[in-house]
Amino acid sequence: MTLNQSDRPVRVRFAPSPTGHLHVGTARTGVFNWLFARQTGGTFILRLEDTDRVRSKDEFVDSIVESMKWLGLDWDEGPIFQSQRLELYQEAADKLLHSGKAYRCFCTAEELETMRNEAMAAGRNPRYDSRCRRLTDEQREKLAAEGRAGVLRIAIPETGVTSYEDLVLGKLQKGNDELDDFVILRSDRTPTYNFVCAVDDAEMKISHVIRGNDHITNTFKQILVYDALGLEPPAFAHLPLILGKDKKKISKRKGAVSVIDFKAEGYLAETMVNFLALLGWSPGDDREFMPGRELISAFSLERVTSANPVFDPDKLAWLNGEYIRAMDDNKLLTLLQPLIMESGLATRLEIESRWHWMLKIVAALKERMRLLTDFLELSGYFFRGELTYDPKGVKKHFHGEDAVENLEALQTAFAAIPENRFNKESSEHALRSLAEERGLKVAKFIHPLRLALSGTTKGPGMFEITEILGRETCLERINRAIAFIKTNPPS
Ligand code: GLU
Repeated sequence: MTLNQSDRPVRVRFAPSPTGHLHVGTARTGVFNWLFARQTGGTFILRLEDTDRVRSKDEFVDSIVESMKWLGLDWDEGPIFQSQRLELYQEAADKLLHSGKAYRCFCTAEELETMRNEAMAAGRNPRYDSRCRRLTDEQREKLAAEGRAGVLRIAIPETGVTSYEDLVLGKLQKGNDELDDFVILRSDRTPTYNFVCAVDDAEMKISHVIRGNDHITNTFKQILVYDALGLEPPAFAHLPLILGKDKKKISKRKGAVSVIDFKAEGYLAETMVNFLALLGWSPGDDREFMPGRELISAFSLERVTSANPVFDPDKLAWLNGEYIRAMDDNKLLTLLQPLIMESGLATRLEIESRWHWMLKIVAALKERMRLLTDFLELSGYFFRGELTYDPKGVKKHFHGEDAVENLEALQTAFAAIPENRFNKESSEHALRSLAEERGLKVAKFIHPLRLALSGTTKGPGMFEITEILGRETCLERINRAIAFIKTNPPS
């Protein structure tokens, strides 16, 4: 058996609790499960662990579902809600009760407290001492008759160890004396997390449980539930904890921790999936940007590391830039459209009626973008003519004694190109001919022109800008720059 081929068909589940938005750490678990299912041709199930009725909220269910859809983590079964399956858990608990693998415990909160205090005072582990396990039927009946509600506890082996082979961490074990007969049904017959989780995983025929390593202690308890039910546990793979750059848990990191916040910040879903996949896994070579099916094909549980990965925001932004560059311009513009409208740069009508023109801006700027939102900062001068010239640029390129002269010459040269033939080739040709004619470096024209047209000294190819702006706008802006230079002499 290889790690990817359990003897059962691959069925994995992603089981977030709807007690908050989808956190990046939880989303990483979702990504690993999804990749594993897609790579093996298995089934990916979405299960919402909502048995905590106080903390679970419908709005978080919606938000988790929305985040999953955004990420493209499509599921094959579900969403399955644990709150709708209470009978299943109660039946399983009753089965354990009848087979003697579970027992009723009538201890009151005060009795448990005293028991714990006494154990601690005597230097013992303050675990439940299984006192109700040894009650006779008569004693049980008597306590029940007193009106004590009682909980249901699982009867775990009193000696020995519980062990399993973790697909990431190797063999792990825990002495049963470190565990206790934990509660599986509360006095109101609501089930507890570890019981529900094991019953569900068994009922859903989950082959591999892939989740964060904060669940390792739970795994031992869940294995004890499988044992008690006479069922074979699934394979377990525990993923390493994600750390921030400060080496602290990511949840303590400031800024965006919910997946959906990254969307608002201008990250692409593909980037997030790729980036999250690299938090605790690598393809074994130096590939990082793995678009489309490449990530799915490369993924394997064998290469999940036990070392804690670091969430590096710079790498995330770099990776996003890679995805932006690889994206088709039409698709990119479709994603940018709501941001452009929201920022007020252009209306829906302006965007849709000038789609081809907008595509040129997208093509010119995508090389320079890391976040979708970068487009808004980089593209302002294409939409607005009221430029503020970069002061450093002004000092360098607007204050030479020949700046006005060169801009005027450019103006004449551009004006001589028929409007319908004004494009990046013809404007470049005009500028280069001019430089040659005058025996000057092309830079003498390009730098002041860029500043005149965009207000900045950096940006995409100069002649892409001239073409996008068009002849009239170029001429207007050159005019405006000349006027500016004349009225703002060097100090
Ligand atoms: N509901 C648990 C959580 O959100 C997941 C448990 C599991 O994956 O087994 O942490």
